[in-house]
Amino acid sequence: MAASVRDSAQRIVILGAGPTGLGAAYRLKELGYSNFVVYDRHNYVGGLSHSFTDDQGFTWDIGGHVMFSHYTYYDKCFETLMGSEYTLNNRESWVRMFDTWVPYPFQNNVRYLPKQAAFECIAGLVKAQNGKGTVASPQQATNFGEFIDAVFGEGIAKHFMRPYNYKVWAYPPERMNKHWIGERVAVIDVERALKNIILGTDDFGWGPNNQFKFPLKGGTGEFYKRFGPAIGFDDGKGIGHIRLNKRVTKIDVDAKVITFSDGTTDTYDILLSTMPVDVLTGKILSEQAGEQAGEQAGEQAGDRGARANDASLADIANLASGLLHSSGYMVGIGLKSRTPNAGSPDTKSWMYFPEDNCPFYRVTYLSNYSPFMTPDKHNYYSLLCEVSESDVKHTPGEFGKNPDAVIDDCIRGLENAGLLNPGERANIVSRWCYYADYSYPTPSVERDDILTQVIPWLEARGIYSRGRFGMWKYEVANTDHSLMQGVELINRLLLGEPETTIGMSYKVTEDGRNAASHERPAHAGSGEKRLARQATPTIEPKPAKVGDTGAGDISEDELAVGDQVGKR
Ligand SMILES: Cc1cc2nc3c(=O)[nH]c(=O)nc-3n(C[C@H](O)[C@H](O)[C@H](O)COP(=O)(O)OP(=O)(O)OC[C@H]3O[C@@H](n4cnc5c(N)ncnc54)[C@H](O)[C@@H]3O)c2cc1C
Repeated sequence: MAASVRDSAQRIVILGAGPTGLGAAYRLKELGYSNFVVYDRHNYVGGLSHSFTDDQGFTWDIGGHVMFSHYTYYDKCFETLMGSEYTLNNRESWVRMFDTWVPYPFQNNVRYLPKQAAFECIAGLVKAQNGKGTVASPQQATNFGEFIDAVFGEGIAKHFMRPYNYKVWAYPPERMNKHWIGERVAVIDVERALKNIILGTDDFGWGPNNQFKFPLKGGTGEFYKRFGPAIGFDDGKGIGHIRLNKRVTKIDVDAKVITFSDGTTDTYDILLSTMPVDVLTGKILSEQAGEQAGEQAGEQAGDRGARANDASLADIANLASGLLHSSGYMVGIGLKSRTPNAGSPDTKSWMYFPEDNCPFYRVTYLSNYSPFMTPDKHNYYSLLCEVSESDVKHTPGEFGKNPDAVIDDCIRGLENAGLLNPGERANIVSRWCYYADYSYPTPSVERDDILTQVIPWLEARGIYSRGRFGMWKYEVANTDHSLMQGVELINRLLLGEPETTIGMSYKVTEDGRNAASHERPAHAGSGEKRLARQATPTIEPKPAKVGDTGAGDISEDELAVGDQVGKR
């Protein structure tokens, strides 16, 4: 099949010009394959990695985006498209609790907490590590909630892990699986945590060895924007490949015809979809012949024994509807500096907020990432707040209907959390909000079972669902993973190479120390190679095996406990 993809130049259609679609398109172009097109509903590329500049001249990302690359290929793309137009920033993160700032990683710095809380954290940690907590070991945990109790103990669970994770995910940790987090936090260095308390030492997780790159101008989105000209916009003469303002409304699975909201259609031989897979199966796909078509698809893919894939579309849509996700409000607050010519008031990169005195789980000092994120670095700074929402965690935003209410809430929260002093509301010069209906793909308890059925069903019909919400694997849903999901799919189809990112597996070890199958590089873009398990290369595209036990990394730094903990 790989040979026929190459030789007969089948038409490849890519839905979505986010990092996944752009990665696939870039790779196709690089391999000299011309029979492909990328469609996106928006008038811009980048998807969730796009950045916006508001009328006041502040640039905003869709949530704080920090680039931690695990791939040489991704690093090369960055190098090629960005050259030296980037900043290198310390990853200085903090947790706000008990009206104080606790440095990251949280568990090493509990001495910053009031004495009683610090005691509870350490006592719980010691108990948990000795197998005397409410859940005896991480291995016995059946979900993320139990995993938290088993690894961190009741003190850290109560004061930080449980409230914080609920704020991020918008679901109780009991509804999440334990695998996404991997085993790398399974060993917490109790001695180190104790030493810092007793000796009064600080343990900051940042410094010259922990930095990240950020585009000099235009925010995160600038990097993705530059894929546009590299791949080429459709000029109507069939030369470029990207077509914007094209919203897909229907795909006929049997006829392989895509219909857009403007009434036009296109056909495909192979489809890469990066839209949410529950939307794809539930609202976009249609089957003419139902079960019969399913059987045919099964026969076509005969040697894969794909008869198991003859479930009806309705069954698959029903399964996919069981996937959980959260929505998110990204609230940008642009401010005049406290002291003119002083710029940002401090050096923090981003901060975590477990308490309920503010609606956000994370705030980013975006103006610290580059001097070009505000209209004038000397006189303005910017804070980007992230607020989650789901059917169990409501906000006054009412699923995007009332963003102003969320902005007001965030401003109150900034005051409560000590980021805005009394009277500083008057310094606000910009209020910006982006509502992401699909923000975090929840690694729910049922997720892997669902994906194991849905993804192969689609592949048996020539549809490859990839990317943050196409694959729904949060642990490989950062920008670098997403871009590489696109690249690796093309490598599989054209070159017969395995897709290692989505198949990334976790080696579960007794102590969790050697569990990571790849390591986070010290520098974003340092070129450190992932050490993902190599599958045997295959000429024949096979349905991806999804639902592996766990995966590789803590994305987006949502834990604030430090993924390097187990390695020290
Ligand atoms: C709050 C937040 C914080 C994040 N922080 C980080 C971070 O710190 N570091 C990091 O590396 N990554 C981060 N990410 C993840 C990053 O944004 C994603 O990895 C990346 O954007 C996913 O790319 P994608 O192409 O898979 O999906 P998307 O970016 O979602 O792109 C999908 C595209 O499909 C298009 N589409 C959907 N439906 C249709 C349709 N019907 N017709 C046509 N087009 C359609 C959309 O318009 C979109 O452009 C964060 C994401 C969020 C939401």
